[in-house]
Amino acid sequence: MSTLRWGLVGASDIAATRMIPAMRRLGHPVTAVCSSSAAHAADYADRNEIPYHTTDLDAFLNRDDIDAVYLSSTNERHCPQAIAAAAAGKHVLCEKPLALTIEDAESMVAACVKAGVTFAVNHHLPGAATHREIRRLVAGGAVGRPLAVRVFHAVSLPERLRGWRLQDSTAGAGVVLDITCHSASVVNALLGSPQAVTALSVRQGEWDSVVDDAAMSVVRYEGDVLAQLHDAFTVGYASTGFEVHGTEGSIVATDVMTQDPVGRVVLRDSAGVREIEIPDRPDLYETVLTAFAADEPSVTAADGIDALSVALAVRRSAETGQTVDLT
Ligand code: NDP
Repeated sequence: MSTLRWGLVGASDIAATRMIPAMRRLGHPVTAVCSSSAAHAADYADRNEIPYHTTDLDAFLNRDDIDAVYLSSTNERHCPQAIAAAAAGKHVLCEKPLALTIEDAESMVAACVKAGVTFAVNHHLPGAATHREIRRLVAGGAVGRPLAVRVFHAVSLPERLRGWRLQDSTAGAGVVLDITCHSASVVNALLGSPQAVTALSVRQGEWDSVVDDAAMSVVRYEGDVLAQLHDAFTVGYASTGFEVHGTEGSIVATDVMTQDPVGRVVLRDSAGVREIEIPDRPDLYETVLTAFAADEPSVTAADGIDALSVALAVRRSAETGQTVDLT
């Protein structure tokens, strides 16, 4: 497969702001949208120039002008919708977090395997040119033996997104499922299997929230490498960052935990400090879509499950005050 006709399940902000534009830039038609609200579906289809809209998921999945479904509903609906899409023979690109439990995520994978359809998760960061370069540098020995990673992923939650993310715990609200799973997706890609997690999370935003909106976590990886993650909805003026510290050098990357193909990567070692040139920086969402259409997902469902397991462990550790073992 190369050009896919996309049906959207979930009339969402991320689809409107990032995915529909990326699909169209790649020449992939967006043929239909399915939403739980008829009025919202109609308005969304109109605003985004989508020819067909419905609230009937079965009718939507029976359409023969949809090759692949992009699922960007609220998180608690990802699992049943992915299983239904797979049963209808549609390829499935699912938003993160894949589901609210590992068991549900595994049942989604099983349904897609059984149906023989492609299944991937829309973690946009591991495929970014900056993160690919960081992994290339580390694999090539630029920092020696990795010792520690620090992730700064503390941002300000845009006003338009301050709905279910803060208010609806049944929908998988909270910073941990929203941002920590993204942070884990890049650290896992660099360091491999997470082994243990210790975390604290708090509610510190100037808003009413039923869930925690800031978390700091420490994750131990194979080889006793430690990763420190700061994920928050509450920080308005920081740059994001990703650092890798090793026995022979350090990589310090700034503005690389974002939705845009931007950011600087600097290598510091005994030879001095130098910026790494990264001339080719494709759009992060086009990268996911291109790989998906080639049936070679940049972030597989298994990667999505690994990212989810870190996020769930962070939440459990913060709730219980215990270190969570992932081995
Ligand atoms: P939105 O709040 O924009 O949309 C989520 C759902 O809320 C929609 O699917 C829709 O339900 C409902 N909704 C939204 N606006 C309205 C409205 N005006 N009236 C009625 N219903 C409405 O969520 P996001 O786009 O922020 O997130 C969607 C998913 O994408 C989540 O899983 C999130 O984690 C993920 N995400 C991923 C990002 C990435 O970079 N990979 C970035 C941002 C989000 P319905 O399904 O019924 O249409």
